[in-house]
Amino acid sequence: MILATDLDGTFLGGKSLHKQQLYRLIRKDTSIQLIFVTGRGLESVIPLLNDPIIPNPDYIICDVGATVVNGHTLEAIEPLQNEIEQHWPGVLKIREAVKDIKGLQYQEVPQQRRVSFFVKDENVIEEVKEKVAEIDCDVIYSANKFLDVLPKGTNKGSTLTNLIKFLKSSTDEVLVAGDTLNDMAMYQCGFKGVVVGNSEDKLVQATKDIEHVYHAKHPGAGGILESLKNFQQLAHYSRKFDEEVIQEEKSDTPQLVMMYHRFPYEIKEINGVKERVSPNSPNGILPTLQSFFTSGRSGVWIAWEEVAKSGEQLRNVYIDKDKYPNLMASRIGLTKKEVEIFYKSFAKEAFWPTIFSFIEKAKFNHHHWDHFVNINRLFAQKASEQADYGAIVWIHDYNLWLVPGLLRELRPDVKIGFFHHTAFPAANTFNILPWRREIISSLLQCDYVGFHIPRYVENFVDVVKSLFPVEVLEEINCAPRYLTYSTALGVQKMTTTIKTDHRVVKLGANPVGINVGYIKQLMQQQELQDKITAMKTQMGDKKVILSVERLDYVKGPLEKVLAFEQFLNDYPEFHGKVELLQICTPPAQGMKIYDKIQHDLEHAIGRINGRYSRIDWIPIRLFSRSFPFEELLTYYAAADIAWITPLRDGLNLVAKEYIAVQGQIPSSKGVLILSEFAGAAVELQYALLTNPYDLRSLKECLLQGLLLDDNDKQTRMQRLYEQVEHYDIDFWADDFLNHLGN
Ligand code: UDP
Repeated sequence: MILATDLDGTFLGGKSLHKQQLYRLIRKDTSIQLIFVTGRGLESVIPLLNDPIIPNPDYIICDVGATVVNGHTLEAIEPLQNEIEQHWPGVLKIREAVKDIKGLQYQEVPQQRRVSFFVKDENVIEEVKEKVAEIDCDVIYSANKFLDVLPKGTNKGSTLTNLIKFLKSSTDEVLVAGDTLNDMAMYQCGFKGVVVGNSEDKLVQATKDIEHVYHAKHPGAGGILESLKNFQQLAHYSRKFDEEVIQEEKSDTPQLVMMYHRFPYEIKEINGVKERVSPNSPNGILPTLQSFFTSGRSGVWIAWEEVAKSGEQLRNVYIDKDKYPNLMASRIGLTKKEVEIFYKSFAKEAFWPTIFSFIEKAKFNHHHWDHFVNINRLFAQKASEQADYGAIVWIHDYNLWLVPGLLRELRPDVKIGFFHHTAFPAANTFNILPWRREIISSLLQCDYVGFHIPRYVENFVDVVKSLFPVEVLEEINCAPRYLTYSTALGVQKMTTTIKTDHRVVKLGANPVGINVGYIKQLMQQQELQDKITAMKTQMGDKKVILSVERLDYVKGPLEKVLAFEQFLNDYPEFHGKVELLQICTPPAQGMKIYDKIQHDLEHAIGRINGRYSRIDWIPIRLFSRSFPFEELLTYYAAADIAWITPLRDGLNLVAKEYIAVQGQIPSSKGVLILSEFAGAAVELQYALLTNPYDLRSLKECLLQGLLLDDNDKQTRMQRLYEQVEHYDIDFWADDFLNHLGN
């Protein structure tokens, strides 16, 4: 079979799922020959040839039929090309012939053996025809705006016919595809043809009565696939893929566009070649989000990738062609400097302190804000280009706060969901942001906005109320899944639907879960069990108090260490019997704002150890480095107490991981002490909750944890584990998409 297809609106048009299916069919079936038949000039076709997604054509007919080349070597097909050249009077003669005709705009685009104009007034077409007929040229008018002057008798149909003859192929094997009037000639040569969905009406009318022309419902590539089923002789081509296609279409799952700050792969140099490497570990959010695409679901993942020059355009690439055949990575090129301002400076100086209610640390740089807006615009534009009609767009986190609004302007048809991976502060804190109105207006363009816990939903509603008239349409009780009155972040009711300015927005709480199955699997490995035994032996009878956190003032490491100092001061009977293992993972390089907390922490730990250490005992061990997840599990397993005391925290996964690990230990006596200001506190009702702003609460809660009766410890851990196992990472991801109305 020979597929001779127009490009824009036809081969390159339609749903991305259909494009991927068609391209795969062509790539896999070597008996299909591909000919591009386009109005573009050759130079404008070349970028497509470098695109790994688009299959390479065997031949290219471009310039509306005036150029014909080999698709692999780009050499002209002689004598066909020469024949056309002989009839071409040259661009200067054409321009001279029509110079007095008003309403013709010469198009400065790559072109050969034809002249392309942009027509503002259709009435001039006849006049152009007459003028150029005098120098033996034809006119082709299409898409209600393009007018091409070509050598007499040259068009897409004539060149294609000549090429088929030249290749000694049978016309029976040819399927032509197009969508505008300049494709008309291809349908008049006796080939089978498909006029794809959403074609120019004039083409639909003109081809209505031509035998062997099929009018497809689906636009673009989908129309070509649809037509294969229609022509008996070609049906076996589509049959090969039918099962897959039917399965994908039957499930009627819309395309999913994921917008995250990074891709689910890293770029590594392997044998001197840069390759995309997916992380091996199924731990964390990225593998879960990616798992939506394992079933063959169509999708695009939009994130940034570092480039050398600002504005550099990057092509789409596969993330993993075999595992996710319909998932593409759509890359936004940002320079190192652009990334630094966007993520490291602006976000960390303006948003981070505000989100976590450390308003005295917030700095507002309006130039950086402009930069933030520009980058959000790039993301919105990319999503607008990549999303199918009615696609679901899932945007992640505050770095992309403006994307919903910008995207909605461009694409009213898509469904937009936004998830906050951080806390969301109260109105009197959030409103210190000079750009509060822009951010909230944007979020109100979503169909669904998700937060970790009900308290953050209510904070958001309060912010909206402070800025716009708003009607609460629906609210639900938070109990029993979440705590209400007994803890700092509890709340009785949660708003689930609001209406502002004629838009209805759904809201909800979706606390992120963890991959309990993976932890279970790791904990069954003998190697890990041996490491746990070794660590326990090393710690002897001492009670291990474990703290794991990123080095960040928000996590309150200094407050914890000072409380521990007080604990040692007040309860000397625990000297030599308890040890605090403080794992503080360093922030990304170049984050100066964390230098002070590092210094203060080291200073305090030095002082405390200096004061209390014995030859057989060091009260606090500081680990200023990051551990691989598997190693961290050893610490979780060996710890008698996890002392997790952030001043603020969106959720806190460490607490859940500790529970998941302890849940694998028969009759575990591990104790979780958790800050009331970690989002997870309202979910983990059997933890001991502490107020990290109050040194006495920190200290007394630690004592309580150490003195807790074994039965009490076991029951608490059992209940906590049931909770964490049920509301795991898959539950979170499915729940979010269900709320969005997948
Ligand atoms: N973590 C890690 N190695 C370390 C310390 C932490 O892999 O040495 C991981 C930990 O397992 C957890 C994440 O880092 O999954 C921290 O998540 P959390 O929600 O507790 O804090 P965040 O840093 O997101 O505020």
